[in-house]
Amino acid sequence: MRRGAPGRVLEAILGLAAVARCPACDAVVPGRGLCAWCRLRIHPNALPHWSGSGIPVLDGVPGSGIPVHSPFLHSGAPRDILIGLKFEGRRPLAREAAQLMAGSPGELPGRGDLIVPLPLGRRRARERGFNQSALIASALAGLTGARTANVLEREDRPPQVGLTGAERRRNMEGAFRVRRMPPDAGRIWLLDDVVTTGSSMDNAARALEEASVKPYAGITLTYRSAASDGIIALYRRDTGGIPDEERPALRR
Ligand SMILES: [Zn+2]
Repeated sequence: MRRGAPGRVLEAILGLAAVARCPACDAVVPGRGLCAWCRLRIHPNALPHWSGSGIPVLDGVPGSGIPVHSPFLHSGAPRDILIGLKFEGRRPLAREAAQLMAGSPGELPGRGDLIVPLPLGRRRARERGFNQSALIASALAGLTGARTANVLEREDRPPQVGLTGAERRRNMEGAFRVRRMPPDAGRIWLLDDVVTTGSSMDNAARALEEASVKPYAGITLTYRSAASDGIIALYRRDTGGIPDEERPALRR
């Protein structure tokens, strides 16, 4: 369980503030990085999927949109890292997310490539005070030798949470546009924290294409599929059945 503010204060008084903690579950760990339990709570997602359909990229079967590489399912430790980053404002977790991505066996941006983070709408950016995807993009660029540039902007639309696949696609239609042309670079990767139906990624890719810029692929830390929701259901049972959307509020 994550230690709340009173716990932190007590630790500071006792002079224990310097202990290393697992970035996902906050357990005290001997060194840096994830604890042994959280390393078990990582569920790999082997296949990239098409942004236009979420269907896995399989040989000889062309899909719609761009291939999106998501090394992990949206569950366990990677999901906890994203919740801590987005809803608790724990910005150093962007580096943990990037390290998980960089250490995954799938294809990654390389030296000279350009990582374009998906932006937030203005209102959401004001509320949150930072764009988690931009933080992850910078950290991943630092680890891989790629560059990063904020070239897109996004209209504020209602949140995607709770919408069906078709509603998500309609909601994201035309939500992105290029605000400035990207610098010359190798392959262009679009980066988001999590992908569900791929609607955001797909529309961001389309905005680049409309500006005659060809995106190479998308990359996210996690992929939220029906399978990962099944794992989340098991995890919820382990954590007392607290629904996803309420967890961040409880932890704040
Ligand atoms: Zn842990």
